[in-house]
Amino acid sequence: MKKFMLVVVIILFYILSLPGAPLIALYGDVDEASYLSGKFNPSTHSQFVNLDDLNIETDGRKHYLRRSTAVALKKMVVAFKKDNPNIRLYVTSSTRNFNYQKAIWDAKFNGSRKVDGKALNKTEPNHLKRALTILQYSSMPGTSRHHWGTDLDFNSLVNSYYENGEGLIIYNWLKKNAPDFGFYQPYTAGRKQGYNEEKWHWSYLPESSIYLRRWMKIFGNDTSFFSKEGSFGGSEYADRLAPIYVMGINPECVR
Ligand SMILES: [Zn+2]
Repeated sequence: MKKFMLVVVIILFYILSLPGAPLIALYGDVDEASYLSGKFNPSTHSQFVNLDDLNIETDGRKHYLRRSTAVALKKMVVAFKKDNPNIRLYVTSSTRNFNYQKAIWDAKFNGSRKVDGKALNKTEPNHLKRALTILQYSSMPGTSRHHWGTDLDFNSLVNSYYENGEGLIIYNWLKKNAPDFGFYQPYTAGRKQGYNEEKWHWSYLPESSIYLRRWMKIFGNDTSFFSKEGSFGGSEYADRLAPIYVMGINPECVR
C-alpha cells in the first residue's frame, strides 16, 4: 500500500511538472500571475490548510500552507520530536501574500520599521540603495517564495540562534534530515547573489520547484508586472532586481 501511494505521489508530481500541468491543481481558482505574485488570500484558498488543523506547532498566530506542503511538514516535525522530545520546533511564518509583504516592505522603505536600527528614509535617500539594503532580508512584494504556500520560517529569524544550544541542534537536524521530507534551505551561506543566509527558512521543493519554474517563465524576462503597478516603494527597480533575488538561491533548490 505504501509503495502504491509513493507511485501515485511520483506520478502526480510528474504531471504537475509538465508544461501543460493542470492549472487548477497549481493555482485553484486564482489566475497564474496573481497566484505566483501572492495576490490571493490563503485563508480562503481551497488548496491551503490552517496548520492548527494538522496540529503543527506555531507561534500562536494563524498560519496557512499548501495542503501537501503542510502534510510533509507534519511528518518532518513528528520525526524531529521523536529525536528531540524536549526541543520546540514551531512555525513563525508561512504563507504571506502580496499585501502582507507590501506592508513589511513599505514600512522598511518609509522608515516606520527600522532596518539595522536605522530609519532608511532618513539615512538612505537613494531609492536603489535603500531597496538593496532592505533586500538583504526582505523580498519585494510579488517576489517572495512565501507567496507560494510552500515555504516557512522556524523558531527564530536570527542566524546566531542556530549556532549554539537548541538552535544548533535544530539546524543540524534539519540539514541532515529535511531533504528526506522534501525540505531544503534556499538561502544558504556563500551564495554570490540574492538574500543573506537564512537558517530558519525551509522550502518544500516538490511543490516550490514547480512555482519557481513558472515564476521564471512568466516574470523572468518581463517583471514590468511589478514596476508598472508602482504600488510599493522602489518598485521602479523591481524589473532589474526581482529575477536576481528569486534565482539567487541554493543551487539544490533550482530544479
Ligand atoms: Zn522566510
